[in-house]
Amino acid sequence: MNRTISVLGLLAMMTGCFKGEKVDLIIHNAIIHTMNDGGDVFEAIAIKDGKILQVGPEREILNRYRGEIEINAGKKDVYPGLHDAHGHIFGEVYQRLQVDLVGSSSYYDMLLRLEKFAGKNQPSILIGRGWDQGLWGESELPTNKLLNERFPDLPVVLIRVDGHAMLLNDLAMRMAGIDSETRVEGGQVVIKDGSPSGVILDQAMDLMQVHMASPDRATIKQKITEIQSDLLAYGITHVHEAGISIDQLEILLELDAEGLLQIQVYAMLFLNDDNLGYAEKNGFIDQGNVHVRGFKLLLDGALGSRGACLIHPYADAMNEHGLLLTSMADLQRLTKKALALDFQVNTHCIGDSANRILLRHYDTLLTNVVDHRWRIEHAQVIHEDDFQWFSKTGVIPSVQPTHAASDQRWIKERLGTDRMKTAYAYKTLLNERGMLALGTDFPVESYNPFGTIHAAVQRKTLDGEPQGGFQIEEALTLEETMRGMTIWAAFACFEEHRVGSLEKGKDATFTIFEYPIRSTLNYEPNGANETFIRGKKVY
Ligand SMILES: [Zn+2]
Repeated sequence: MNRTISVLGLLAMMTGCFKGEKVDLIIHNAIIHTMNDGGDVFEAIAIKDGKILQVGPEREILNRYRGEIEINAGKKDVYPGLHDAHGHIFGEVYQRLQVDLVGSSSYYDMLLRLEKFAGKNQPSILIGRGWDQGLWGESELPTNKLLNERFPDLPVVLIRVDGHAMLLNDLAMRMAGIDSETRVEGGQVVIKDGSPSGVILDQAMDLMQVHMASPDRATIKQKITEIQSDLLAYGITHVHEAGISIDQLEILLELDAEGLLQIQVYAMLFLNDDNLGYAEKNGFIDQGNVHVRGFKLLLDGALGSRGACLIHPYADAMNEHGLLLTSMADLQRLTKKALALDFQVNTHCIGDSANRILLRHYDTLLTNVVDHRWRIEHAQVIHEDDFQWFSKTGVIPSVQPTHAASDQRWIKERLGTDRMKTAYAYKTLLNERGMLALGTDFPVESYNPFGTIHAAVQRKTLDGEPQGGFQIEEALTLEETMRGMTIWAAFACFEEHRVGSLEKGKDATFTIFEYPIRSTLNYEPNGANETFIRGKKVY
């Protein structure tokens, strides 16, 4: 009797290979990191109608299913499609349309790049982006002296790498109507030896911005699709767009309606009265690959231009505390309105004062609000007493490990030894809140996720600086880093029911990577071998 059953069983198994359930796609002989709660790793995955039917052991999947397409992954690593939890697609668009100053090694190098571009393109206004005087070995912001000498007849506007400062030549200053008397709330015209140095900070940049013509829609769309291809080549399938206007949102919605947007964009609208009105009228947006249910707010500036708001003065500028870009009254009013609409608010806080103000405000505002998922973007300098507020308020830290690696070059000078210890403290933040969303802030840093892995785990730049890693006790493990770019990031944008892990019923959005995902002392380049979104190969 027993013998009969086993023969029948064997027969069923043998015919199973031929009669298995038909599915669209099978990936097998892979190392599939599901990123589920148990951290399960399997060999094979079956996909139908863009969804995951099952993830499991090689034999089980191959016995049970027959794929229209079957891919032998040759033991390559497979992860859920990566998120960049803080990026600026439109910033990247402008970066690509303007003179690329990222990585310029000196003022002269910057001038050289400008001259080359101006000679080739003959612009009516020369716009560059990405300078960082830290790379020139200077801690002080530059002046426009050399710029005026080289460009006496062409207005020049050069945006700092962090987007919080501009260097203008005198002609551009005149165009914007800026002189030594100009005062702007939430901004500054930097004065040196009694006259404007050419540098303007934060809200003062609006004076110039209105004179800078925006590129046409077709050009912007074209650039977005180019950027998208580059993201997919890294295995990035989701971008949390950290602050856009309604105009920009409409461009994304158009691209999506035209079927040209493949990556998913979680777009945060800037938190202001107009956009609150828009949100009230339209509610959450869930159109194809564009999702909107959150706002972005800027509470302070950046450390590089001394705009980050600190409790105690800057170590290298004894009279400066930085700037609050939003008043307390506006902060309270705007966040309350957003909460009433059930929208998430993600606030840029860099300095310990900005972080403290926001966390304390939330301790009242968000009491009894279940599952709000409100975030602090950057959470860069936190007073040691204030980490506890992350667990208390439930606010999710959204951080960019590459900032730690880049800023360590000058951060000691700016913050001083003591305060530096609780800056870029990702492990401490993780221990407090139990999760982190990881991003890059591109175009401030490259969107290369392997740069993020290297910076998070080794706490180093791509060239291996500093040796031994910057405040290595704040390093994340590889597992934590990958969670920060997958399931935790998905949670931080309310998408974990669809993406972020490879589990039955979720979208078949994942990447097969070229080389093993690992972290070693030296940076190793990597990229996608193939990227899939909802079961469709997109790279
Ligand atoms: Zn940003």
